Amino acid sequence: MDIQTKTCQNCKTPFQIDDSDFTFYKKMKVPPPTWCPECRLQRRFAFRNERTLYKRPCALCGKDTLTMYDPDGGITSYCGECWWSDNWDPILYGQEYDFSRPFFEQFSELMRKVPHQNLIGIFSTWKNTEYANMNHELKNCYWLFNSDYDENLLYGEEIEHSKECVDVTMIEGTQLAYESLNCIKCYQVYYSVNCENSHDIWFSKNLSGCSNCFGCMNLRNQQYCIFNEKFSKEDYQKKIAEYKLDSYTAVQSFKKKAVEFWLKFPNKYLTGIRNVNSTGEYINNSKNVRNSYIVTDGQDCRYCMWLITKTNKDCYDYTQFGENTQRIYEAYGCGLNIDNVIGGVSIVEGRSIQYSMHCFSSNNLFGCAGLHGKEYCILNKQYTKEEYEELVLKITGHMNTMPYIDKKGRKYSYGEFFPPEISQFAYNETSAQEFFPLTKEETLEQGYSWKEDKERNYKIAVKSEDLPDSILDVKEDITSQIIGCEHKGECKEQCTIAFRITSQELQFYKSQKIPLPRLCPNCRHYQRVKNRNPIKLYSRNCAKCGKEIETSYAPDRPEIVYCEQCYNAEVA
Ligand SMILES: [Zn+2]
Ligand SMILES: [Zn+2]
Ligand SMILES: [Zn+2]
Ligand SMILES: [Zn+2]
Ligand SMILES: [Zn+2]
Repeated sequence: MDIQTKTCQNCKTPFQIDDSDFTFYKKMKVPPPTWCPECRLQRRFAFRNERTLYKRPCALCGKDTLTMYDPDGGITSYCGECWWSDNWDPILYGQEYDFSRPFFEQFSELMRKVPHQNLIGIFSTWKNTEYANMNHELKNCYWLFNSDYDENLLYGEEIEHSKECVDVTMIEGTQLAYESLNCIKCYQVYYSVNCENSHDIWFSKNLSGCSNCFGCMNLRNQQYCIFNEKFSKEDYQKKIAEYKLDSYTAVQSFKKKAVEFWLKFPNKYLTGIRNVNSTGEYINNSKNVRNSYIVTDGQDCRYCMWLITKTNKDCYDYTQFGENTQRIYEAYGCGLNIDNVIGGVSIVEGRSIQYSMHCFSSNNLFGCAGLHGKEYCILNKQYTKEEYEELVLKITGHMNTMPYIDKKGRKYSYGEFFPPEISQFAYNETSAQEFFPLTKEETLEQGYSWKEDKERNYKIAVKSEDLPDSILDVKEDITSQIIGCEHKGECKEQCTIAFRITSQELQFYKSQKIPLPRLCPNCRHYQRVKNRNPIKLYSRNCAKCGKEIETSYAPDRPEIVYCEQCYNAEVA
């Protein structure tokens, strides 16, 4: 295989481009990238604000809304109804291409004039749902992101077809889950990770087809086990009752014990099944999907993330959300029947679209924002097919002869994603801060912008340490009180300092006998995703046979990691 080593324009570390990469770039008619894969992901994330939301009136109808756009950030925000209505026309913002200025400068200007929809998602499919973003088909949900087809879901992200769960991440087809991550088709699963087809599970990891298990790891089709030891039904139930899981102190101590116990057992080098020639983490049913994260039913993809609805084929550097897509390069928040997209943010249904944002059911667009059902437009200006094709050729050439240069001196020619300094968001409002956390100083040093927290004057009525230890001692009036987060805003976790318990939430804790949380929803999110393996891959050797493996478990982590064959021989 022919491999070329390049130096990243951004972080200056070397990265490699191989034969199949060159084949892809040739097919897309783009030059090879100048940023390394990790910096490219961070750059896309700088445009993705999932959970920093503001109260602000719609700039067209005046209705109160929640929006991703800070009122002081220079972006016009419309409510969903107005944005999708005929009461405004994005074509009226069209501008002539100016060959005396770089493309990205002109695009940034256009994007700042065209109104944005307050949130991402099909708002008409959200019933009785608040504080949510990047969703579709929700009912009675609160504080939920990047999720679809859910009911009575509180505090979570990446949840599909699930009901009555609280504080969860990456959950599918599950009912009654609490503080769990990556669980599929489960019922009543608490404080657990990577479980499937299981019910009544506590503090467990990597279970399949199990029920009534507590503190277990790597079990298949087992019942009534405590720390992998089998009990009779009666003894199991007696022990569980003695554990007093309604107590916060008890839960904290079992969480610690479980994590220590899990360390005695092997983990598979990659979380996922039925893959051919694939690398990454959380990959399923995929073929030739490499260096990707949370991908199902992918084919010939590399550096992709959050593509869980089939099928996605021939895609590189594509973050969220898929469904019948092909030939996608450098895109975020795009999907549903799209083909040949280069440099896209929130592009849904359409083909041959480049460097555009928030465009729907359109074809042949270049540098457009907020268009629906259009074709042959450049910077929101309408052209004929012939004019369009001629001008696009000239512009792509111009992007190379006059690239955009940012204030750190980084060059953005044709084929690069949008420069982060034109993002609508500050770095610490975006997913970049979650996956690549930086201090304020580092953020500014690297040429991103930073937003100071607005002064918060909460009157905290209850300190977290003064909450009752057992849920059985919690009174109904707790829902009217402001509780102080244990982290007091001193962490790097977008801590909101104070939080409330909603009555729907209290009902869940009471019915499931789960003690009250001590942290605000954002801090809880950050603790939960510590159980999620990172996006990075390391080389390591199988702890059993010594074979070299590529895994998201860093070599200095304490877990035992096996190759596929050794893991299957011992566990599956
Ligand atoms: Zn880099
Ligand atoms: Zn409106
Ligand atoms: Zn907090
Ligand atoms: Zn925190
Ligand atoms: Zn092995």
